[in-house]
Amino acid sequence: MRFLSTRGQTPALGFSDAVATGLAPDGGLFLPESLPDFSGDLKRFEGLGYAELCFEFMRVFATDIPADTLRALVAQSYTKFTDPAIAPLKPLGKNLYVLELWHGPTLAFKDFALQLLGNLYAHQCATRRETINVLGATSGDTGAAAIHGLIGRPGTAIFILYPDGRVSPLQERQMACTGAGNVFALAVDGTFDDAQATLKEIFGDQAFRTRHRLSAVNSINLARVLAQCVYYLYAWLKLPASERDNVEFVVPTGNFGNVLAGWMLQKMGVPIRGFRVATNQNDILYRLFTTGEYRVGAVQPSLAPSMDIQVASNFERFIYFAVSRDPARVRTVMETFKQTGAYTFEHFNRDTFSASRCTDAEIPGIIARVHREHGYVADPHTACGFKELRSDRVNVVLSTASPAKFPDTIRAATGVEPTHSSLEGLKAKPIVKHHLKAEPAAIRAFIDAHAVSR
Ligand SMILES: *Cc1c(COP(=O)(O)O)cnc(C)c1O
Repeated sequence: MRFLSTRGQTPALGFSDAVATGLAPDGGLFLPESLPDFSGDLKRFEGLGYAELCFEFMRVFATDIPADTLRALVAQSYTKFTDPAIAPLKPLGKNLYVLELWHGPTLAFKDFALQLLGNLYAHQCATRRETINVLGATSGDTGAAAIHGLIGRPGTAIFILYPDGRVSPLQERQMACTGAGNVFALAVDGTFDDAQATLKEIFGDQAFRTRHRLSAVNSINLARVLAQCVYYLYAWLKLPASERDNVEFVVPTGNFGNVLAGWMLQKMGVPIRGFRVATNQNDILYRLFTTGEYRVGAVQPSLAPSMDIQVASNFERFIYFAVSRDPARVRTVMETFKQTGAYTFEHFNRDTFSASRCTDAEIPGIIARVHREHGYVADPHTACGFKELRSDRVNVVLSTASPAKFPDTIRAATGVEPTHSSLEGLKAKPIVKHHLKAEPAAIRAFIDAHAVSR
């Protein structure tokens, strides 16, 4: 299997090279040359455990990794999940299920992809006798999940910048209490945007980047999207056969990363009826799917902070299909968007998507209602999914984070004090963070001193 860039100006790559490259050199995102068809495999997949299903799915794409090696990498990626089902599907009422995606080490859905990505990176380092230094900036969940994907992996180091005092205390502990020698939590002065600007400058320094084999943490890596397809497939197989053809997945999203994966799975022959794109008050995707206009807005901080995004970086993969896989048209859309901050699609094909938007004023009320009606505690991101459900569909709401990560909002809405043993354990561990100025010179000097090399 080979992978092409959405912008059509990068030679096709095999799986491992596409994963190592991340963003294609022409600025595009990698997609499979052609989508496989799993419709004939669904019967065979029934009854497989999560890791085995993931292996059966990934082997169709990762054809350059020997099958036994891939099976072991995938199996290892789900050993740190604390629920035996990995992604438990829980019935809440008639035509309503919740798919819990937060039983991994950082208690949010990003672990599904970043545990596997960490293993793929480590495998590549070992077989190619290389090292990798991963660098990223985070406002919370992504940094923690990336760190936990690489903890203690030989040949790798990870440096995560975050704005000092501006991530939640629990998120900081998830990054700074690992005790691992290859993990560096860098608390920088200023805002998340300052951290990101510094990072951009460092990645622009080609010589530095090459010297340390620097790689970025971001949500556009091909392996992340593919790993996320698997829980949709797993959930679909767990539904009673009579409900499968009428399922609508309801997906809290900001970057379009999570819901894109489900939609791609549908294109691969799994008969999913539809998808609900559930945004918070940062609603670029809601506006797109209701009006056909894709227009950037200013980010407003919200109670569901991991969806505080106004440019949905994975959306380009949807555009590619929406313009009949014509890379020249993708380039036109992206160029217009870059120049003007907006693009209006003529005859916008919504395909099977619908959308909802949820403001901060609504989130606590929804959490309280779901708790009252179903006895279920939903975190603020998941609550956006519960805003509007369709009575004529089987709704599967994806729960993207543990409520224990957002104790203040949950307590205020329900009176319940959410806890999780892994977070309780963190409170006893020492915080090891490195306080630095958000200046490229300071960050570069730190990396020069701590990077892995051969
Ligand atoms: C990252 C994140 C999201 C949004 O994911 P997308 O990639 O934007 O779809 C939703 N909920 C939680 C808890 C997250 O950490």
